[in-house]
Amino acid sequence: MNKEKKIFSTLMVLAMVGLAVALSGCVEEEVNKIIVGTSADFAPFEYTDENGNIIGFDIEMVTAILESLNYTVEVKDIGFDSLIPSLQAETIDVIAAAMTITEEREEQIDFSIPYYEADQSVLIKKDSGVEINESHNLENFTASIANLTIGAQTGTTGAGWVQENLIDTGLMDEANLKLYDLYIDAVADLDIGPARLDVIILDLPVAQAFAEDSGREVVYTIITGESYGLGVREGETDLLNKINAELEEFMASEEWTTLITKYFE
Ligand code: GLN
Repeated sequence: MNKEKKIFSTLMVLAMVGLAVALSGCVEEEVNKIIVGTSADFAPFEYTDENGNIIGFDIEMVTAILESLNYTVEVKDIGFDSLIPSLQAETIDVIAAAMTITEEREEQIDFSIPYYEADQSVLIKKDSGVEINESHNLENFTASIANLTIGAQTGTTGAGWVQENLIDTGLMDEANLKLYDLYIDAVADLDIGPARLDVIILDLPVAQAFAEDSGREVVYTIITGESYGLGVREGETDLLNKINAELEEFMASEEWTTLITKYFE
């Protein structure tokens, strides 16, 4: 073998060893990787910063929990309505999306212990002339809202509330409910004004975030008493138990208080 050939084959061997090491590293990482699915249009729980990074209360919380369990976390942004099908299709492993624990969803996935309580609310554009009856008599309120064009995100409990309380009861025409893939698109229409949309119904903490430093206002709270949970595939009891234990500990820690202050105060 001439000298050049020798150097070449030595380099080849080194390259192959390097590749093998790199590949084994990948395989190891894959085993401990968890893909978290979210719908990043729901500040302060999940949203994107100016650099396109997905951030928020849920994201920090779920990352801390899964990292303590020695997982590497990847976050995927998908439409809210596609989260449960994606979990079932195994393209994601955990849902962290301010998702309300409901009976209907419990038939399809498993939920962690509850980590946050929320009600629904009505968001309007200030000075749009849209008026609702703010009395705490639910009948007066629903009657006043039934003639309006209402926006909500597909598949959410907000959309469900309108369906059950206004459409199914015959109070409101189905055409008055406009469903959006993303709440941010509903908010863009609200900002255009009543020609597009009169009000949005959505979770109160998120409505408050949309109302901050904007021309929007939360005018009513619809008491629904919802609890958010993290979602995992049905039957993944081991993962669920580990998440629950870690979540319980996390919620009693100072880190939790720090996160609450950071995102809600
Ligand atoms: N909490 C609501 C629900 O579960 C909305 C969640 C969301 O839009 N991210 O339907």
